[in-house]
Amino acid sequence: MNVYKDYYAILGVPRNATQEEIKRAYRRLAMKYHPDKNPGNREAEEKFKEISEAYEVLSDPQKRALYDREGYAGLKKSGYTGFEDISDIFKTFSDLFEEFFNFSFEESFQSKRRDGADISTEVWLDFENLFQNSKVNLELERWETCETCQGLGYDPQKGLKVCEYCEGKGKVAYREGFFRVSYLCPECGGKGSTYVEKCPTCKGSGRVRKKRTLQITIPPGVEDGTIFRIKGEGEGGVFGGKPGDLYLRVRIKPHRYFRREKNNVYGEIKINFISAILGDKIKIPYFNKDLEIEIPPGTQPGDEIILKGEGLPHPQTKERGDLILKVLVELPKEVSPEGKDLLLAFAKKEGLLDEPILNSQKKEEVSKKKKKDSFWKNIIFGGRDA
Ligand SMILES: [Zn+2]
Ligand SMILES: [Zn+2]
Repeated sequence: MNVYKDYYAILGVPRNATQEEIKRAYRRLAMKYHPDKNPGNREAEEKFKEISEAYEVLSDPQKRALYDREGYAGLKKSGYTGFEDISDIFKTFSDLFEEFFNFSFEESFQSKRRDGADISTEVWLDFENLFQNSKVNLELERWETCETCQGLGYDPQKGLKVCEYCEGKGKVAYREGFFRVSYLCPECGGKGSTYVEKCPTCKGSGRVRKKRTLQITIPPGVEDGTIFRIKGEGEGGVFGGKPGDLYLRVRIKPHRYFRREKNNVYGEIKINFISAILGDKIKIPYFNKDLEIEIPPGTQPGDEIILKGEGLPHPQTKERGDLILKVLVELPKEVSPEGKDLLLAFAKKEGLLDEPILNSQKKEEVSKKKKKDSFWKNIIFGGRDA
């Protein structure tokens, strides 16, 4: 037999490896050289013995210290013999193996039944689209459950067979004297059966990548940033998992002339000063129709004209908000000489010339002079008056 054994090299860990690192290394190697995974393979069995011995020494602080100090020879001198045979190893490490294999089962279980992931995407609508239902075509590329095998991963024509690894029991057990170690079969995940052949369409993965166009109806009046959850339109589940959901975020492009607040629509309307003074009826184009707007006589700049029910529909109740138009009054920048005379005549007639509006500068000077006078009056004569 070997006179010298490098346990660190056997486990592939550095000499200052932590207990955790040693355990991890042993777990990995034990899974690889497990006699049940290598039936009839003498070499694997020898390897399994060797790594188990290395682990036994290095996982025990006293044995490890002795080995570090005096090497394999010192360890032998102290009476250490290693393992007689495989059953010896299972007896010693029964708890450890249960831990190892349950862990491995968890891993393989998770890679089996799996729900589809959620997808999120965004769609942009024009302001115009908000007055009625809008149908949008959404182009998606997503993983879908394989139609050939319904996401099972095996060829449904050839079906299932009894799992050879556990002989259909779903569990693998070792009985060694009083010790019994059993764990769920890693091959079939405890079902007792596996498939005869992988599904040719998805190569056993249970899903395929597909391009899809979904037509989605968006109700009128939605607010910018609204997120719709469309159940089951995410990625497909596999091995019996549920499909994910699609989250669609609706964005609204801003409009050149109109903005919204809740379901009210706000805009501006420019009218000339004659219409403002005398009142008028005007037509404006408004999202596929014309609106007739009544301007009451005496309308002031900044006044609001409210058109009931011409706003956006509420997404649920469909009740419509109002259209609120702020009045801007446009004044002519220039007038003809005739126009000027008419305006002056108008001003005179309406009594607007009683106040010297056209000579406002003089008026200002007069009032300034008055103020000055009274100022001096107060200073000079103030004391005497009192
Ligand atoms: Zn099995
Ligand atoms: Zn398939």
